[in-house]
Amino acid sequence: MDSQIDSENEGLYELRPVARYDDASRANAATTGQTVGNAATEQGKRHGLTRYVGARHLGCVLPAVSAALGAPVPTRIHPDPERLRVELGLPHARAAIVVLVDGLGFWNLTLRRGHAAYLRNLLDDSAGSRPISTCFPATTVAAMGTFGTGTCPGLTGMTGYSQLNPRNGKICQLIAFRDAMSPQELQTQPTMFSALAGTGMRVTSIGLPKFAGSALTEAAFHGADYHGMRSMDDRVRAAAEASREPGITYLYFNECDKAGHNYGWESEQWIAAFEKVDGCLGLLRREVPRDTLIVVVADHGMVQTDPQQRIDIAATPQLSQGVALVGGEPRAPMLYVNPDVDPRDVADRWRDYLGERAWVGTRRQAIDAGLYGMVRPEVEPMIGDVIAAANDRVTIVDSRFQTDRATRLPSVHGSATVMETDVPFLIDYID
Ligand SMILES: [Zn+2]
Repeated sequence: MDSQIDSENEGLYELRPVARYDDASRANAATTGQTVGNAATEQGKRHGLTRYVGARHLGCVLPAVSAALGAPVPTRIHPDPERLRVELGLPHARAAIVVLVDGLGFWNLTLRRGHAAYLRNLLDDSAGSRPISTCFPATTVAAMGTFGTGTCPGLTGMTGYSQLNPRNGKICQLIAFRDAMSPQELQTQPTMFSALAGTGMRVTSIGLPKFAGSALTEAAFHGADYHGMRSMDDRVRAAAEASREPGITYLYFNECDKAGHNYGWESEQWIAAFEKVDGCLGLLRREVPRDTLIVVVADHGMVQTDPQQRIDIAATPQLSQGVALVGGEPRAPMLYVNPDVDPRDVADRWRDYLGERAWVGTRRQAIDAGLYGMVRPEVEPMIGDVIAAANDRVTIVDSRFQTDRATRLPSVHGSATVMETDVPFLIDYID
């Protein structure tokens, strides 16, 4: 099974340009007749890492759903939710359930479609047959912020699994907000859920009990009425029940991501988790009342790693020289250099050493290329002085900063390959 994925889908493990977050230049792209998705900016062309996607971005989903529910909420970078709704093909509805399946990339889903009767049906619809893009890095923290606020990592300040906290000079881990600022200090954009709740709408969030009131939940999804439930079936029934009343329900599943990190996304355990999620969503469809819109998305996809392509910064002097701290992801490390070191020198050494194995840029290059979208000045120092995005199945870890297990996970994500950045956008309207 593994070798099949290798031989038939090699392009899926290649880096490709990071999607633009905003709508600004879409009219432009349309008038010049360029295909949306391929129209790189001048800056992007120079750095080779930006592309347009129009509305087909994870950050457009909740603004578009807000328009579908008749309460359009514009955001800092999406002024026209109704236009996003039309471009994404969402019907108007009385109630919406937005399902986020952590780690279920478009290609992870597509390559295992035989195991998922419900999701396969939605993939076959014209609306579901094309992926949307997640943010950079393709990781939960950054994607949740982007999704929950309808903006981008440069505005949410959530730029990776871990990043520098300029207040204490430490690398903070943002799943748990360990060593981090408070969620209110770090993430200053209004959340979509608080804006929707402000219109008087019912806003329900259903996930695991342990995430109730967590800092990450606060940062990305503040404003929703949270219901924590361990059992997947209970979560589904609660979502169906909530939908009797008009409004929005956010339903979260972490099972695929967890199985992927523990056993690899090509494992039997991953398939079992995937089948279970698919079964739950089929149940959801049967239980929801009429005039309910179900939208299925993911925060990122996953790649299988290759132990032969694991690079340890700590054991590679050419990579560790001048580097004080390492944050980010195994697929997209962020380097913070010593005060007397020029980040360009570090970037040059990394490029020399890694060659085709990764894209490497300074913070300035990454920001100019639009990797994080619009960036607040306070967020700039949180982003690494140097950023790498791994190609193929490469992981770039640091045994000084990460546990041994964390440096050897069978499946990971974070970089800008097709596998990691294409996520599903599936629409099911029950009339
Ligand atoms: Zn993950």
